[in-house]
Amino acid sequence: MSARIIDGSAIAAAVRSEIKAEVERLKAEHGVIPGLATVLIGDDPASATYVRNKRRACAEVGIQSFGYELPATISQDDLLQLLSELSARCDVHGILVQLPLPSHIDARRVVEAIPIQKDVDGFHPANLGLLGVKGAHVPFAPCTPQGCVELLERSGVQIGGRRAVVLGRSTIVGLPTALMLLARDATVTICHSKTPNIAQVTRSADILVAAIGRPRFVTADMVKPDAVVIDVGINRLADPSDPRGFRLVGDVDFDEVREVASAITPVPGGVGPMTIAMLLRNTLRAALNQLTAAC
Ligand code: NAP
Repeated sequence: MSARIIDGSAIAAAVRSEIKAEVERLKAEHGVIPGLATVLIGDDPASATYVRNKRRACAEVGIQSFGYELPATISQDDLLQLLSELSARCDVHGILVQLPLPSHIDARRVVEAIPIQKDVDGFHPANLGLLGVKGAHVPFAPCTPQGCVELLERSGVQIGGRRAVVLGRSTIVGLPTALMLLARDATVTICHSKTPNIAQVTRSADILVAAIGRPRFVTADMVKPDAVVIDVGINRLADPSDPRGFRLVGDVDFDEVREVASAITPVPGGVGPMTIAMLLRNTLRAALNQLTAAC
């Protein structure tokens, strides 16, 4: 039987409507409108699309967004100066710098220049590090890993006591996803580009998360029957029949794997919309946390 499709678009819409109601309450009770500053550097079309979608999603739930579009030639000092100004503003509760950055800019210094209470992407080492501290309150978990976990939980998938395999160990997706599953009592294995015999590992997974950026890497023979498969990958494949000249596919061969898995996320319409919903939720939380701040 074909797998149940975990509809990330529908789940994200439900999360957004919860956020919208909370934003209205915050405004009515405290006169505060959550504010997100988005900083886009250069003219990478994919980054521009991501930022446009984030700004649009903010508007839909009543979050104010402050957009900054900077040339790829901006100096690191000028960027850090902007971040310092945004950090000091009371109407900016969250700051997002769209990655990747031009090669002359040190991404680590930029991420660390965002105060942790405004780090709604959850990329600051202080936020990421807390994911590894048992029982710690994590102010802002990164959005994509949070989206993966939320998809599982809202779909009624049991995490505790299950075997989870995460493909990919990046600082912002694979590793934090693994830590979040571990914190929910899964037994977690991480695979990366140096892992031998990956298929043998993935076949042990009750929950398989693919986050490697390799189109349709995960095939049916790599998946345990009835596993739950979360596909984080977003890969552009050339497609002359598409008006954009490309189409998006995940890291999982969806058509094959849906015949083996019990549940699966599609691409698009799976993790992607959840990532944005989690960004909105982090921004709302930042505004709530800052109610008692000096501003
Ligand atoms: P990344 O920084 O390039 O990391 C890729 C990871 O995959 C690395 O750990 C790498 O291993 C591993 N890897 C690469 N090729 C592999 C292979 N053949 N076998 C096993 N492991 C392999 O990418 P990322 O930022 O984590 O993103 C991963 C994917 O998720 C991309 O397609 C990206 O577009 C997508 N993404 C989606 C969302 C969303 O909202 N849906 C958000 C963020 C990212 P090493 O560490 O050994 O190099």
